[in-house]
Amino acid sequence: AIILIHQIHDLIPKKKENTEHDDSDLTLLSPRTRGIESQIGNTPLIEIKSLSKLTGCKIYAKLELTNPGGSAKDRVALAIIRENEKLGNLTPNNGDIIFEGTSGSTGISFALLANALGYTAHICLPDDTSSEKLQLLTALGAELEPVKPASIVDPNQYTNAARLGAELINNNSEDNRSAIFANQFENDYNWRIHYTTTGPEIYRQMNGDIDVFINGSGTGGTIAGVGKYLYEKNSNVKVILSDPQGSGLSNRINYGVMYDSVEKEGTRRRHQVDTLVEGIGLNRLTHNFKQGEPYIHEAIRVTDLQALKMAKYLCINDGLFWGSSSAINCVAAVKTALKYGPGQKIVIIACDSGSRHLSKFWKQASEINNDITLDDILESN
Ligand code: PMP
Repeated sequence: AIILIHQIHDLIPKKKENTEHDDSDLTLLSPRTRGIESQIGNTPLIEIKSLSKLTGCKIYAKLELTNPGGSAKDRVALAIIRENEKLGNLTPNNGDIIFEGTSGSTGISFALLANALGYTAHICLPDDTSSEKLQLLTALGAELEPVKPASIVDPNQYTNAARLGAELINNNSEDNRSAIFANQFENDYNWRIHYTTTGPEIYRQMNGDIDVFINGSGTGGTIAGVGKYLYEKNSNVKVILSDPQGSGLSNRINYGVMYDSVEKEGTRRRHQVDTLVEGIGLNRLTHNFKQGEPYIHEAIRVTDLQALKMAKYLCINDGLFWGSSSAINCVAAVKTALKYGPGQKIVIIACDSGSRHLSKFWKQASEINNDITLDDILESN
């Protein structure tokens, strides 16, 4: 019997060395995780019934907006904090600071998780950030550093401010605190946490039966992590990028050029993406986007008007009050359903709620008539 036990022990895989690049260690759970952070991930998947009915496909949404911080970015923020704790770069309740350069959902996730886990969040953001986001970050107690002038500069300016802030603290030998620069655009923990959690969740929730995954790209972390996971499970799964007007990413995927429109090829690249849509669309390639690029089958460009109309349509017909990037995904889902025909099983991400967009996107979407139809949406430019 003793020999048998030894043999069984030999069959149990040895715990892997805890290296920085070990994907199997990247999880949202941790022994001391039982506060609000334990509610991150394992988000529900629902069917968007009106769109399924009209297209003859099955169109589903992964409700990332149900994370405690209101978006998929909770996963990324938690992963970055946990991994830096493991590396010894962050210690709870030591005054340690997380620097990030963003006006978006990631700042909100870091602000919330910093409070929950014993840190301070220091957010560098453009000084024209919308008032509702500033109010939210202020309410959450984050340190805010508006960087100006925002509209005419390279967007890297506020990420650079965050990098410098962290360096200043770490280089000061009289300062006992430690700081990290989260760097969501370039950080591998971003796409990896989607590869190890969001992707497998979607695959499980669909019982492995999925034809298309659609998402936009901000940092690119979600489409890279989920796309790579689903593609590796089944290389017939089509990973489709939805992209707002003004972004260069769709042309990069479809035509191999990185300009904000094919006609404008040869003109100077613009950093500013000219769209009402927040959180997605870029005119540069990020490390996270590059990790996903090999798995992206095609890109669908969506106009602001189509997104506005879709947002209103979903709200009136399905009770889904979503942000602009979710609406873009739904327009792309309908176009995909019509292109590939009935019976497709399509999954999109609903990244955040309409309440984050009341002063800008939803101010215009609210004015669209309640009787808006799918044909109206597809016909508009
Ligand atoms: N939607 C919203 C509202 C976002 O804030 C973001 C992230 N900026 C995305 C979609 C895209 O996510 P990712 O950064 O993983 O590409």
